[in-house]
Amino acid sequence: MSVTGNTSESVEPDFDAVIAGAGFAGLGMLHALRLQGLSVKVYDRGRDIGGTWYWNRYPGARTDSESYYYCFTFSDELLQDWGWSERYPGQPEVERYLNHVADRFDLRRSIQFNTSIDAARYDEDGNTWLLTTDQGEQVRARYFISAMGIISEPNYPDIEGLDSFEGVCHHTARWPEEGLELAGKRVGIIGSGATSIQLLPEVAEVAKQVTLFQRTPNHVAPARNKPISKEEEREIKANYNEIIDKTRNQAFAMPFFSSPSNRCAMDVSPEERQRIYEDLWQQGGFRFFFESFDDLLVDHKANETAAAFMRSKIGDVVKDPATVAALTPKNYPLFAKRPPLEHGYYQTFNRDNVRLVAITETPIKEITATGVLTSDAEYEFDVLVLATGFDAVTGAIERVDLRGRSGEKMQEKWRDGPETLFGISSNGFPNFFMITGPQSPFANIPTLIEENIDWIAQCIEYMRARGLATAESSKRAERHWIEHTEEVLNLSVARHGAYIHSWFMGTNVPGKRTGVLVYFGGADNYIAQCRQERASGFPGMLFSGDGGGA
Ligand code: NAP
Repeated sequence: MSVTGNTSESVEPDFDAVIAGAGFAGLGMLHALRLQGLSVKVYDRGRDIGGTWYWNRYPGARTDSESYYYCFTFSDELLQDWGWSERYPGQPEVERYLNHVADRFDLRRSIQFNTSIDAARYDEDGNTWLLTTDQGEQVRARYFISAMGIISEPNYPDIEGLDSFEGVCHHTARWPEEGLELAGKRVGIIGSGATSIQLLPEVAEVAKQVTLFQRTPNHVAPARNKPISKEEEREIKANYNEIIDKTRNQAFAMPFFSSPSNRCAMDVSPEERQRIYEDLWQQGGFRFFFESFDDLLVDHKANETAAAFMRSKIGDVVKDPATVAALTPKNYPLFAKRPPLEHGYYQTFNRDNVRLVAITETPIKEITATGVLTSDAEYEFDVLVLATGFDAVTGAIERVDLRGRSGEKMQEKWRDGPETLFGISSNGFPNFFMITGPQSPFANIPTLIEENIDWIAQCIEYMRARGLATAESSKRAERHWIEHTEEVLNLSVARHGAYIHSWFMGTNVPGKRTGVLVYFGGADNYIAQCRQERASGFPGMLFSGDGGGA
């Protein structure tokens, strides 16, 4: 193992901060800390910039948030100069955008690609983090920041025989950079979540035949993608201050000006309800959920009206009644799983070259050398795609051998569930910060990332101004945050994710401890609480020692 950093006799850090991840979070954090005069190094497992938008290059990958708010907002010039081509930009465009940001702010020179941080140890003698990469390097940093993402660690299905398949097999989050030849091929897709829902129509266009193995059907809404006209672009750019302000004041960090709608589903007549749902359905995207009624997430009866509306729409598109029945979600409320958006997904099932296999009826027994064997048939494939999701929220952090004070492992500390303050800091892990860590909200991600970046940057500035050596959340503040997170979860229908497979609750990964991974109190409330913490001098944090002006 080569050691490029200082050895343990000398604990002077090589960098003020090391960041893991060069996606939205890592790029934004790097830029913010550089502006504060810190020396910063970023490591990323990928070959290039992008994080999620580097890895998820499967056909059809695009944002579900709309482009005009799925972006950085820290630079007016960037907002004004960059123009998005579509309502929901595809993976290549978002990847281009992140590369543009990296080049524009000269970020690349601080990033080392093809390198993952595999171990991180807090050294109490020198108050530094000793980081070990898979390339055998060791570096020391005062601050270690996770920008590893909440949906980044692939979940490979535990299906017998997976390794024996002799065709081409890829997880969607490890799609080959050079692309995958699907034209004229027999393709099997396992999984029917947001990823698969984007992928299937694209594959069906070119493949000889596609078979989708579905375990749980989803509540799926139409995206209704379209190009952004010059006039729309001008309008957006003229109103960015209001748009940014709204993202910080909406429950899912989306600038929908009719959210909250200030109405409840059962307060209007069934006809009026239908009219409101239909209108928003035609507009497409997440507006259906967030501009219709304010109680869909908390009231079962209200939730069921939206879920019933969505179920009724499947048969309007899909012709075969058996397929309609199989695609219809049953026995769980809307929002117990994250509702995906579709671009022709349902329509695809009317094609002759597409078939749906409901594996709740005919379970997969094993994967063979040539395909998939279910309880009633054998399917042969040239290509097998695993659209089986992620070990979300905690997966990427817990992959690292992360040890805090007294060598305590993060995995041990979180044995019964993650313990954090705002998903940013965890007691016993001084100067370790997480961007969108466990128990932060799930909402428009770039907005949350920017809020977390500002929080961390300000906390570090606070320390430097006072010569403080370490910062970590207090146990008391953490307990309060966990209790609050559990309390709001119990008010929300999302808690039903505990009884089905839902990455919100960790129940999608076999053997993973379950518990609340996501804050359901609203991004607006979360942001207000984080800002209050900053404005009050970080009362939930413990600071210690002499930082020597680090
Ligand atoms: P997912 O929603 O967790 O879906 C995974 C799929 O694989 C599910 O249908 C699941 O079935 C199935 N599956 C998992 N293990 C299986 C097994 N052993 N056997 C058979 N089926 C299995 O994952 P995802 O579709 O990748 O999406 C994850 C999240 O990423 C989304 O919720 C979303 O937040 C984000 N995402 C966002 C976008 C976007 O914004 N544009 C696009 C894609 C993804 P069960 O449902 O029964 O578990």
